[in-house]
Amino acid sequence: MKRQKTIGLVAHDNRKKDMVEWVEWNWDELLNHNLVCTGTTGRLVAEALEKKAKQCDGENRELSVLCLKSGPLGGDQQLGAMISEGQVDMLIFLWDPMQPQPHDVDVKALLRIAVLYNIPIANNRSTADFMISSKLMKEAYQPKIKDYSEYITRKV
Ligand code: PGA
Repeated sequence: MKRQKTIGLVAHDNRKKDMVEWVEWNWDELLNHNLVCTGTTGRLVAEALEKKAKQCDGENRELSVLCLKSGPLGGDQQLGAMISEGQVDMLIFLWDPMQPQPHDVDVKALLRIAVLYNIPIANNRSTADFMISSKLMKEAYQPKIKDYSEYITRKV
């Protein structure tokens, strides 16, 4: 991954407030990167960033947010597909530990694919804070991916 990262952002409903606060708090650092979000999270994140842009009027501080479908409508799967294609470098996924989701299987699949491709994942705000303040955010970084070629070529 390059110095400029593409960061996936997803928050379940009970964690959206946390996500918005986190985005507002880390606005300056996020300006250096690209954001890709599930639908509702993305709308809230874009609103929060717009509010910040107004507060800093006069300066050209635009941050584009790519909004996918809403999570329960396939957004988690779209994000997972992007990770498998090398289009998302890291994931901040604030999932709700207290409530089952209609798309729990998609949630599990997204977490699995993020682990498979060895991208950094934060599932709570503290980890997201540590991640965003890592010196690696300002450097190119190549995650090591286990060699699965044997798996692809196996005889069945
Ligand atoms: P949402 O999806 O951003 O559209 O709410 C998040 C999710 O539930 O996975």
